[in-house]
Amino acid sequence: MTRAFRFDRLFIGGEWVTPIDGGVRSSIDPATGESWGDVAYGGPQDIDRAVAAAREAFEGPWRRMSPWERAALLRRFADLYAASVEDLAQVETRDNGRAIRESRGDIGLHAQYYHWFASLADKLGGRTIPMDDSVHAFTSRLPVGVVGTITPWNVPLMAAAWKLGPALAAGCTVVLKPAEQTPASSLALAHLFEEAGFPAGVVNVVPGDGPTAGAHLVAHPQVDKIAFTGEGETAKTILRTGAETLKRFSFELGGKAPHILFADADLDQALNAATASAWTLCGQSCALGSRVLVERPIYDEVVDQFRQRAARVRVGIPQDPATHMGPQAHQQQLDKTLSYVGIGRDEGAELVTGGSRIERDGLAGGYFVEPTVFAGVAPDMRIAQEEIFGPVAALIPFDGEDEAVAIANGTRYGLTAGLWTRDTGRAHRVSQRIEAGMVWVNTYRYIRWSTPYGGVKQSGWGRENGIEALDSYLETRTTIVST
Ligand code: NAD
Repeated sequence: MTRAFRFDRLFIGGEWVTPIDGGVRSSIDPATGESWGDVAYGGPQDIDRAVAAAREAFEGPWRRMSPWERAALLRRFADLYAASVEDLAQVETRDNGRAIRESRGDIGLHAQYYHWFASLADKLGGRTIPMDDSVHAFTSRLPVGVVGTITPWNVPLMAAAWKLGPALAAGCTVVLKPAEQTPASSLALAHLFEEAGFPAGVVNVVPGDGPTAGAHLVAHPQVDKIAFTGEGETAKTILRTGAETLKRFSFELGGKAPHILFADADLDQALNAATASAWTLCGQSCALGSRVLVERPIYDEVVDQFRQRAARVRVGIPQDPATHMGPQAHQQQLDKTLSYVGIGRDEGAELVTGGSRIERDGLAGGYFVEPTVFAGVAPDMRIAQEEIFGPVAALIPFDGEDEAVAIANGTRYGLTAGLWTRDTGRAHRVSQRIEAGMVWVNTYRYIRWSTPYGGVKQSGWGRENGIEALDSYLETRTTIVST
């Protein structure tokens, strides 16, 4: 690492401050199970300070700034971000155990998200509405206000980029509360906002526990919106906590994506995508195709290919550039993944490969688990219905389009889906019938700043990325003038 980030203070009102009712505690490296250093966390009083700073900035300098000045700051920040990719990737990998090659690739794209939203900041005009001659009617688009952003441990910097980009472009100010397991990269981010010269209080970063700091942020009457990424059960709790203040909410929640392989697919390409998508991020991504739906004529071949390809996954220390897959991000996630292996066996699915913790030399202290494949999975089994969030692929056979669609839509989730076929008509037919916010055809997990992303059903409310992302950070005011 070339840059010295500090992690033992909170970033509030443009200053690095000692927590009032939080403290400093060890952050665990999931590759060793040991502490790598001390990180500050805040309590409700720290959240109060951060919200007050964000409110003051919103009413003051940030609101007075012209949209192009805000855009210029965001561009400066994006350039700093682009120049800091290696440092940010090292911090995030140490915190959540993601293989460094993946962290570099993913974080390497984030500056583009900030640049893209910066480019929209001065284009948020309203419209005029035709009326009779005596009345002039028009709309204006105004920032929602102070936004509490609550992010998960699997992709802290990505989740932050997807929220802070549109929030700041819209003219909102932000209190960012990262997940308790992975607070460091968000504090690193605060250094870049400071260096870019953002006015004090526009961005505040307060790591802290969900049920204390997080819940206080949600309940806070001076917070106008909560932008949340995490589990559906947490979202329901957040809704109840925030109900009293009727603030705005956007939710990016879990998924159990169907990845459908038709017999006429380019099988090598489809398998590359399907296996990568089972094990990327050690299985800890909402978008991964954890349900692999395989048309029966190619089912046995696909099962065999998954077995062979699992054996080629290099599991290892995440900082090693040769490593494909690091550990699970924390102990509870490791326990959860292993418990689902037991559930799958008990349900009668065939464990083709994997399923165990890896305890060989050098990895024994960390939360490493083998790439795991279940075959003979029935659509109603728990391993096909519930989000495991580990490197566990469930291979489900099907016959024909109708059954594929029925299985694909047969969960409470609807975030992403993929399908592989050489038949263009089928590609259009099936993609339109799938209940998901994002459907990929003959590709998978292709996501960009300009493409709206989000869930239907219990996978979320609202969209991140794309022009649509700005909607949830803006209010529309209609003005009617009698002439
Ligand atoms: P989580 O719901 O446990 O925690 C997410 C955040 O919520 C953390 O910052 C946590 O501190 C906070 N939190 C917990 N309880 C809270 C409360 N009562 N009030 C306020 N905040 C509270 O989720 P996680 O385990 O960190 O992340 C994994 C989940 O996130 C998975 O379900 C995954 O699918 C989902 N996810 C979705 C997307 C997406 O774009 N749809 C992206 C990444 C992750």
